[in-house]
Amino acid sequence: MIVPADSSFLDRAAEIIRSGGLVAIPTETVYGLGADALNPAACARIFAAKKRPFFDPLIVHISDIEMLKTVVSSVPEKAQRLMDLFWPGPLTFVLPRSAAVPDIATSGLPTVAVRMPAHPAAREIIRRSGTPIAAPSANPFGYISPTTAAHVEAQLGDDVDLIIDGGSCSVGVESTIVSFQESVIRLLRPGGISREDLESAVGEIFTDISSDEAIHAPGMLDSHYAPKARLVLISEDDPVTPSFNSALLSFRKPVQDGFKASEVLSVSGDLSEAAVNLFAAMRRLDESGAEIIYAHRVPEHGLGDAVMNRLRKAAAQRITH
Ligand code: AMP
Ligand code: MG
Repeated sequence: MIVPADSSFLDRAAEIIRSGGLVAIPTETVYGLGADALNPAACARIFAAKKRPFFDPLIVHISDIEMLKTVVSSVPEKAQRLMDLFWPGPLTFVLPRSAAVPDIATSGLPTVAVRMPAHPAAREIIRRSGTPIAAPSANPFGYISPTTAAHVEAQLGDDVDLIIDGGSCSVGVESTIVSFQESVIRLLRPGGISREDLESAVGEIFTDISSDEAIHAPGMLDSHYAPKARLVLISEDDPVTPSFNSALLSFRKPVQDGFKASEVLSVSGDLSEAAVNLFAAMRRLDESGAEIIYAHRVPEHGLGDAVMNRLRKAAAQRITH
C-alpha cells in the first residue's frame, strides 16, 4: 500500500520496522527496501523479497552520527572529513563493523557499508524506529532500480508491508561507495557523489579492487540494473536504423521517428539531470515491449560515471535470468 510521508504514516513505518517488517522508503538516490539492520530475521526478509543472493551485503542507513557508533568500530580521519562534507547524502562508507551488526547484513564480512541519507522522510523513519535500517534498492535483484513509489508497488507491492511515497528521487542513481584501508581510499561503485568532488576533498581515490579481497562490489556482478529488453550501448553519432521492435535511450539528441519508444535523458546535456531520469526512462522503454534498447553513451565525468556504470551493467549478458 502506498501512503504519503506524513507524520502518522512515518510512525506506522517505524512500528513496522521495529516489529521486523519491511517498509519501502524514499531516499534521494532510489527507493529502498528497509528492515531493522540489527535484526537478522528482518534482514533475511529483504533477501527473500528481492531474491537477492546472500553474498551481496546490504547498506545500513543511519539518521545521525550517534547511530554511526552503533554500527562501526572506527572511523578513519579521511572518512570523517568526507562525512562532514557529504552527509547527509548519496555517499556510502565501508568501515570496520561493530559487534551489533549481524552477519547477514554484511555477508559475513568484517566491514559494514553505512550511509546517512539526505531525504528527510528516510531519516525520520530511521530516527523514529530507533534502529539503523538496512535498505537495498526496492526492486527484484538485477532489475532496474525504482525512483518512484509506483515503481516499487509494480514489482514488490505484495512483498512489502508499507510503501512511503516521498516523491521522485532527486539524485536518481545509487550512492557512491568508498572503502578505506590504511591510507588508501577506493571507489567501489560510482554514484550520486562524483569522484571529482571526493578527490578535491581527500586527494587520490583508487578504483582497483585487488582480487584477493573477499568483497563483492557491484562490479563483480556484471549484469545489474537491467531491463528485460536487450540493451545495446552506442555512440551518439552511430547510425541506427529505427524499427518497431527497437527503442532509443538518447542522452541529449532529439529522437528520430520510427522507434517503438524513445526517451531523452537531458536535452541540455546535463549529466546530473540524466542520472535523475535514467531508471524511469529505461523502465518506460522496457514497458513499451521493444526487444532492443539502443542507449547513447554519456561522457564519463561527474555523474556521467554513475550513468555509464549503470548502462554497462544493464547491457551485460545475463547469466542468472
Ligand atoms: P545496494 O545494492 O545499492 O544496496 O548496494 C549494496 C552494495 O554495497 C553491495 O552490492 C556491495 O557491493 C556494497 N557493499 C555493502 N557492504 C559492503 C562491504 N562490507 N564491503 C564491500 N562492499 C560492500
Ligand atoms: Mg540495487
